[in-house]
Amino acid sequence: MNNLDKIVSLAKRRGFVFQNSQIYGGVAGIFDYGPLGVEMVNNIKKLWWQDMVHSRANVVGIDGSIITHPKVWKASGHISHFTDPLVDCRDCKKRFRPDDLKAGRCPECGGKVGKPRKFNILVETGLGVIEGKKDTYYLRGEACQNIYLNYDNVLRSTRQKIPFGIAQIGKAFRNEITPKHFLYRQREFEQWDLQFFVNPREAKKWFQYWKEERMAWYKNLINNPKRIRFHKHTDKELAHYAKVAYDIEFKTSFAGWQEWEGVHWRGDWDLSRHGQFSGHDFTYQDPDTGEKFLPWIVETSGGVDRTVLYLLEDAYTEEKIDQKIRVVLKLAPKIAPIKIAVFPLLANKKELVELAKGVFDQLNKKFVVDWDDNGNIGKRYRRQDEIGTPWCLTIDYDTLKNQTVTVRDRNTMAQERVAIDQLIDYFSDKLND
Ligand code: ATP
Repeated sequence: MNNLDKIVSLAKRRGFVFQNSQIYGGVAGIFDYGPLGVEMVNNIKKLWWQDMVHSRANVVGIDGSIITHPKVWKASGHISHFTDPLVDCRDCKKRFRPDDLKAGRCPECGGKVGKPRKFNILVETGLGVIEGKKDTYYLRGEACQNIYLNYDNVLRSTRQKIPFGIAQIGKAFRNEITPKHFLYRQREFEQWDLQFFVNPREAKKWFQYWKEERMAWYKNLINNPKRIRFHKHTDKELAHYAKVAYDIEFKTSFAGWQEWEGVHWRGDWDLSRHGQFSGHDFTYQDPDTGEKFLPWIVETSGGVDRTVLYLLEDAYTEEKIDQKIRVVLKLAPKIAPIKIAVFPLLANKKELVELAKGVFDQLNKKFVVDWDDNGNIGKRYRRQDEIGTPWCLTIDYDTLKNQTVTVRDRNTMAQERVAIDQLIDYFSDKLND
């Protein structure tokens, strides 16, 4: 079943993702995150950074700029290779990627299409102060170039030795011919990259290592392990820089198996090309053995926004209860935008509201907490289920007597009583599980 329309509608209605510049008709392939979306994205990025950088002694991070010297894109091969084949419809004049055609004809009007032409998808911009004489620069087409540009700076400013990695999360821009499937193919999006620099003799070992690590990382985030797999690139599919490449793929409800992250064995393509174009010598000398070599790179490069979409797909669940449909986002608690919702049983009972406010203020310092006193408790549960809040907490008359509250679990809907002074430990334990 294709859930994409439901997810797009939920994302807008509840404040996960909005079309950018919607009041002006929007821009294809450009989106904004709303109040819940920004929490979810930040949670995912924080988790990635924790697992890829902070928990590893041999990985450090950088945050590079979006505009770089234009030669970077010549050296990287993007000016000559970063092209998508494009076909024009002779009838409606719209442009498509050949893989979007339906039986060789225009997917929109069924018209005849012309021969494929190459179209460079780098996004250009101009810098300079004299109108009409601006120099052409590019918004980075992939975030990882900043890592190669800073490889030597990082090596010299830290005590890292090969093998070591540089990680970065940042925006990339592509003039995609057919942005589609919501956050799947956008024109402005975010990537997380790890570039791991190795001795060429050890490249195979590290490629295998990162391939397994990244698969395990994604598997840990989803409910259904059957929706994730590896796809090995055929020679035809290999990018211009890659020697061996695997995609981690997710089985979407809207277009079957699709790429989530690329794990690439890039050889010495990047450093040797930047060496040739800049004149900088990237030769590395092993401080222990004296061996000299140009480092090879194992890369893992995934999409942050695509992760948001795939996690929403994986989490979106409809359950039939008492002839009604319960919509639940079964997001991992670490990813869920809001961790706990606090409800006073009745909004017009001062003593319940005051006590609930106290609980809210206490939890608010430690977790992202929502407050809801609107409508009956069942409705409040449904609202929280739909946005993936793992726990709802109700302050009722028993709370006044014994200082305990009802904690209700999103997935099982089971309820238990927990003492107010135990709540912080209770939720901290659950979140660290
Ligand atoms: P695809 O074939 O799906 O266009 P790609 O092979 O061009 O992707 P890479 O250049 O390897 O992608 O980029 C790394 C990751 O960045 C991809 O695995 C994907 O998650 C994400 N990504 C790439 N292009 C887009 C896009 N237009 N919109 C959103 N995410 C993207």
